[in-house]
Amino acid sequence: MEKLTIKDVDLKGKRVLMRVDFNVPLNKETGEVADDTRIKAALPTIKYAVDQGAKVILMSHLGRPKGEKKPEYSLKPVSKRLSELLGIEVKMAPDLVGPEVKKMVDELKDGEVLLLENTRFHPGETKNDPELAKELATYADIHVNDAFGTAHRAHASNVGVAQYLPSVAGFLMEKEISALGKVVENPEKPFAVVMGGAKVSDKIGVIENLLEKADVFLIGGAMMFTFWKALGYKTGNSLVEEDKLDLAKQLLEKAKDKGIDFVVPTDAVIAQEMKAGVEKKIVSMEEGVPEGWMGLDIGPKTIELFKDKLKNARTVVWNGPMGVFEIDDFAKGTEEVAKYLAQLDAMVVIGGGDSAAAINKFGLQNEVTHVSTGGGASLEFLEGKELPGVKSIADKGKKKRRLLIAGNWKMNKTNSEAESFVRRIVQLIGGSDEHIEVAMCPAFTALSTVVELTRGTQISVGAQNMYPEDSGAFTGEISPIMLKDIGVDYVIIGHSERRKYFKEDDEFINKKLKVALKHDLTPILCVGEVLEEREKSLTFCVLENQLRRDLDGISEDDVEKIVIAYEPVWAIGTGRVATPAQAQEAIKFIRDLLAKMYSREVAEKVRILYGGSIKPNNFLGIIIQPDIDGGLVGGASLKESFAELVEIARKVV
Ligand code: ADP
Ligand code: MG
Repeated sequence: MEKLTIKDVDLKGKRVLMRVDFNVPLNKETGEVADDTRIKAALPTIKYAVDQGAKVILMSHLGRPKGEKKPEYSLKPVSKRLSELLGIEVKMAPDLVGPEVKKMVDELKDGEVLLLENTRFHPGETKNDPELAKELATYADIHVNDAFGTAHRAHASNVGVAQYLPSVAGFLMEKEISALGKVVENPEKPFAVVMGGAKVSDKIGVIENLLEKADVFLIGGAMMFTFWKALGYKTGNSLVEEDKLDLAKQLLEKAKDKGIDFVVPTDAVIAQEMKAGVEKKIVSMEEGVPEGWMGLDIGPKTIELFKDKLKNARTVVWNGPMGVFEIDDFAKGTEEVAKYLAQLDAMVVIGGGDSAAAINKFGLQNEVTHVSTGGGASLEFLEGKELPGVKSIADKGKKKRRLLIAGNWKMNKTNSEAESFVRRIVQLIGGSDEHIEVAMCPAFTALSTVVELTRGTQISVGAQNMYPEDSGAFTGEISPIMLKDIGVDYVIIGHSERRKYFKEDDEFINKKLKVALKHDLTPILCVGEVLEEREKSLTFCVLENQLRRDLDGISEDDVEKIVIAYEPVWAIGTGRVATPAQAQEAIKFIRDLLAKMYSREVAEKVRILYGGSIKPNNFLGIIIQPDIDGGLVGGASLKESFAELVEIARKVV
């Protein structure tokens, strides 16, 4: 599961809206930060953004103020501590959103840091209110999500904003995803799972998911007694979930069927009270726990047995303490297992809030591969669920079709201007990419020059127009044969400017498409609605009409060769850009329409581009959309910025 990270984006001078987890405990008397572990955990990402020259806008929740401005949950103490840790002043906003906050954001200089007030002061946060998300998104160019601890919640500040801004992972998020992702998706074998903690019911999802992958499964903690009881042994006053006895039996059966070494402890440490200094005894499973006593830790034989079962493991996931580790008398099982894992030559990943606390208590947090900082989030991850706060981060390497970045120069650049420009672009783009194709569409007078200068590079050349006849008495026109002859591969057809100024209708466009295809020229067919049509919600209707007419009579084999460019006319040369969500929506509509007109298989092969005021600062948001396969670029294709677009696409494929 590869995600774009903060390292994949250019942050210099950019406004970066960063979601971190500053949900720290505060000292009740002094009001200061009582434990700054979480602040420190977010430092690498914040520092990196500052060093890159970004304007950093931080967001976090703290506690549960339930949508109200409660001063006791203010992040002010955090800004103070963060200032100390960063060594630069962190400005504190009076609220999460609003005119005053907006002003502070606008005044932010490169390398400065602003902390917004508690996200949960706003009721829209936990409701994932799109209006709040939109407002937050106006503060920035890019969203960085470093709050793994909140990733199991779809809130406005982590998930909602990603609808409007490209969202990338911070370093902490990246580390969590890569460690937990590895053990869930592709653990090196033998794979051992150590499960404990209070209740089976909390962990059913995790057990069931990991049972699919594990070779060895070790059970400790209070949940072991539910298994003892299910096996017919006495459990006294131990914490047993009576309603989970059947489940325990089923899990034992399932493990047996799968040939998993499922190990239930053979002995336990028991006491009459869950208290330090009380009398303790060790009982075997066969003896069981007598009435009036309760099991509070795994016993010494079990510790040895577990070590033996773990000795060959290459991957270990541990979730849930082996006993009541908070009390030293019952901490031995947890401590011994922790120590053993710490020296084991294996990938060891620890999830769960109390398990992390346990490993910290024994000072072994740096001796294992990864201790997850997200309690609930890490459990849901181990259950195999897709966390909304991970899903919303842009994917890397998931593009289904080869990207095309095509520059439409329109009526710009003379032949000599083209020459020096293309030399420069060839140099800037360099190398070649398996997953990206670049095309330049100059005026007819520069076509030959551009073909010559791009020979042997990944850059193809396209014409901006053609006449749908092979040759003949068509004064002033250029035929597809002439284009092919000089080495042109693409031709733009149906551009809105030709539809408007040269009155080209769908019938003519349809003819052009057919003739282009006949001569093996790849058409880039432009479709799109004008502003009035969008405002009347006619976008889909217009697109459907255009496409049905333009593609009339074109076969399945041929339509696969066509590149479609969705160009909302209101966004062409106006500086207005469709939001990434609008572009994705329209392009998905086009793909679904193709599936209806032809087949899903065909629709999945057709490349569909977005066009309309694409620039390096908005391209990332567009190109990460699942159905968008590139861009038809106007103004930005006339400058060196064209190469920047290719650079951005390279991070995504
Ligand atoms: P995590 O937060 O790591 O997922 P849990 O929340 O499931 O772990 O469980 C942790 C709690 O389980 C600890 O507070 C610990 O005291 C308790 N626990 C462990 N073993 C026992 C036991 N035998 N009896 C009662 N409580 C136990
Ligand atoms: Mg817990």
